[in-house]
Amino acid sequence: MAKAHWQDMRVLLQRSKEELQLMQARHQKKWELLGNEVQRLSIPASGYHRVVEENKNLYNALQDLKGKIRVYCRVKPSHAGDSSLQSTVKFPGEDGSLLIINTSKTGKDAAKMFNFNKVFGPSATQEEVYLDTQPLIRSVMDGYNVCIFAYGQTGSGKTHTMSGPTGASEKEMGVNYRALSDLFQISQKRKHLTKYEVSVQMIEIYNEQVRDLLGTDASHKKLDIQNNGHNGFNVPDASVLPVNLTSDGLDLMNSGQKNRTVRSTALNDRSSRSHSVLTVHVQGTDCVSGCTLHSYLHLVDLAGSERVDKPEVTGDRLKEAQHINKSLSSLGDVIAVIVNFPSNVSFKKSP
Ligand code: ADP
Repeated sequence: MAKAHWQDMRVLLQRSKEELQLMQARHQKKWELLGNEVQRLSIPASGYHRVVEENKNLYNALQDLKGKIRVYCRVKPSHAGDSSLQSTVKFPGEDGSLLIINTSKTGKDAAKMFNFNKVFGPSATQEEVYLDTQPLIRSVMDGYNVCIFAYGQTGSGKTHTMSGPTGASEKEMGVNYRALSDLFQISQKRKHLTKYEVSVQMIEIYNEQVRDLLGTDASHKKLDIQNNGHNGFNVPDASVLPVNLTSDGLDLMNSGQKNRTVRSTALNDRSSRSHSVLTVHVQGTDCVSGCTLHSYLHLVDLAGSERVDKPEVTGDRLKEAQHINKSLSSLGDVIAVIVNFPSNVSFKKSP
């Protein structure tokens, strides 16, 4: 009786083994079919990636052709009742020309023509000014570094152009906010191809000292500039905060601006005599290849250019003005090198 039971068990075991082998063979076949299918689908997908990559390269080559360095001029509207602007600044009609009339001079000094990539007249809106910058934001998302400077005398409208007036409505927002907003829109549109992470740093440079504008204690700690900081930033020890929404970015910009203003009030409106640098770091990871790209968008509101030969510029003001002029002239040297040696210094994709 026990022997028969034992034999039944063996038959059952043998049958189970066979069934298991059959199931394994079936699964193997299914995996093979699935593998073939994935491979079949990946061919057009990789073709699509190639087309996307080519499109990126062409787009950025076009940006390069438009000029690695572009200079725009924005003319601030005159105050009500101030008619001097109408008589001194003329727009000869061509897109990038500006004629300055000097009634106190005669001959060729009476009128001087300046040429820029584009001139924005006093009626240009914040949106119109930003439109020329917009294509470069896509380049940032493609892995290229972009830097935008606002340069001019104190009161000429640099902060208005970069940040917008205090408490600005969406329409009045400046380049910084619009750039960040576009960055997130592109990131959303590309989410099936690339996963982006965005972080922000904000510093100010005053009398050659670098300070963190996003630190919790708005510290007075001096920071070092390094060529290759451990986190990829040139000021590695300043706070770097992740940003997931345009509104988060706006909050950070506002708090950085507030820190700048608080210190500035204590030091006799220092803000116009310090450079403010907002750096947006973008890291993109390709969903298919896993390759990463890193790029930086620097948005710089430069200190007002000051004259040191005026009799009232003495003491601390003189020291500030000298530091500002030294840094602006160094910046001029860097730009001149890029302009004069285009083959050595190129609009490169960051590694
Ligand atoms: P800067 O940063 O160059 O010192 P601001 O941006 O602070 O100068 O501008 C000085 C004043 O002029 C501010 O009150 C600003 O709102 C105003 N302003 C500047 N540009 C414009 C403009 N395009 N339209 C209207 N107001 C402007």
